[in-house]
Amino acid sequence: MKSEYDICIIGAGMAGATIAAYLAPKGIKIALIDHCFKEKKRIVGELLQPGAVLSLEQMDLGHLLEGFDAQSVDGYSLLQGDEKITIPYPKSYKGMGLHNGRFLQKIRASALQNESVTQINGKALQLLENEGHEIIGVSYRESLTSEIKSIHAPLTITSDGFFSNFRESLSNNEKTVTSYFIGLILKDCKMPFPKHGHVFLSGPTPFICYPISKHEVRLLIDFPGDQLPRKFLLQDHLDANVTPYIPDSMRESYEQAIEEGGFKVMPNHYMAAKPIIRKGAVMLGDALNMRHPLTGGGLTAVFSDIQILSAHLLAMPAFNNNDLIHEKIEAYYRDRQYANANLNILANALYGVMSNDLLKTAVFKYLSCGGENAQESIAILAGLNRNHFSLIKQFFYLAVFGAFDLVRENIVNLPKATKILWDALIIIKPLAKNELSLTAVFSGYFKK
Ligand SMILES: Cc1cc2nc3c(=O)[nH]c(=O)nc-3n(C[C@H](O)[C@H](O)[C@H](O)COP(=O)(O)OP(=O)(O)OC[C@H]3O[C@@H](n4cnc5c(N)ncnc54)[C@H](O)[C@@H]3O)c2cc1C
Repeated sequence: MKSEYDICIIGAGMAGATIAAYLAPKGIKIALIDHCFKEKKRIVGELLQPGAVLSLEQMDLGHLLEGFDAQSVDGYSLLQGDEKITIPYPKSYKGMGLHNGRFLQKIRASALQNESVTQINGKALQLLENEGHEIIGVSYRESLTSEIKSIHAPLTITSDGFFSNFRESLSNNEKTVTSYFIGLILKDCKMPFPKHGHVFLSGPTPFICYPISKHEVRLLIDFPGDQLPRKFLLQDHLDANVTPYIPDSMRESYEQAIEEGGFKVMPNHYMAAKPIIRKGAVMLGDALNMRHPLTGGGLTAVFSDIQILSAHLLAMPAFNNNDLIHEKIEAYYRDRQYANANLNILANALYGVMSNDLLKTAVFKYLSCGGENAQESIAILAGLNRNHFSLIKQFFYLAVFGAFDLVRENIVNLPKATKILWDALIIIKPLAKNELSLTAVFSGYFKK
């Protein structure tokens, strides 16, 4: 069937709008569908790691970070008890803290200014298939008229976010909720280290904060478990595990934010990518793959996926050969696995580490030593080092360091030292199994 579009994109969120903004100026005809093009207030995607900023710059979209009070972030700080450390990002790289809603509107405007993009306001309903079960587009309910209509294209990108309706037919993914994040905005808040992401380790579960505008700091508080926190549990959690550990400089704005209420709560998922490769469709963004947001790795993965998918698609002379499009989709799924494994493993492994007293103390001490190990670790967190060998090496160095440190303190700590090693193994094993192959780890060793 001859179609009006080259690509139909379901979901004009971070993934869908960004790939449209990147491909449209290259003359690709795109139908961009979303049921809401208005600015939303969200607590997601507000810290861009340097890897995400770099990807935007490489796609010539770096200018989209300008003009809406986004703040540059120079590194990370960890706070435990009275101790504090900072680790700068690798030289000449920076992250950005921002309002996700404002940023998304800029990306959408950039995509929609191209004549080759058609904005469709509607809710995508069902993927359309031909007799050969190839996907040939999507049906949708138009917002204005409630009419059911359809769009046809040789390629449909499903980027409809973490509640994706299309995941079922395009993947075997298993989604688990690891915890919830409770989001608050702290106004005129003095963080211990300006221009830094902060991870607070004093309580039983972590909380983090970073600037999102000149006068606002986002505070994200982890609430463990897979059950939505009820109001009274949430209050108990804040009273016992957060309020006592808020630094003095932040206390006034924290108390004011608590008084004003306005908490937003979001589930944190882990979902490894397990795509079913079907002709005519490809998944992008949270619809395909999710990790714990503790490390702010989501958009690094999304933008890097966009670069990989786009590079494959742009290598085709035209969008008229379904077999060739299929080959490109296969290549994208293969390449993205390598590119994103470190981000996925680190996010969930670090969440495991920071919810474990012994490992949490070990990570603090390990990074306090500075030097090459701290530098390599921050480069992995920043999304700049994707080498699997580096990640596995740093994880085991950390566990061994923690165990050795305990024994050095006192030999009676031997059982604790053994526990650290065991816990580290329990954390990393399922993640490595989902995300890595042995060949990829060892090829990383030779690529160092
Ligand atoms: C609490 C939390 C904090 C996070 N913080 C960070 C962070 O600091 N840094 C970071 O890099 N990552 C972070 N992430 C992850 C990051 O936000 C996501 O990876 C990213 O937003 C995914 O983009 P997406 O386009 O896949 O989904 P979304 O941005 O959610 O976009 C999905 C779009 O699809 C549309 N849509 C859905 N269904 C339909 C339908 N049927 N028809 C039409 N349109 C539809 C929606 O309206 C939406 O516009 C965080 C995640 C969470 C949960």
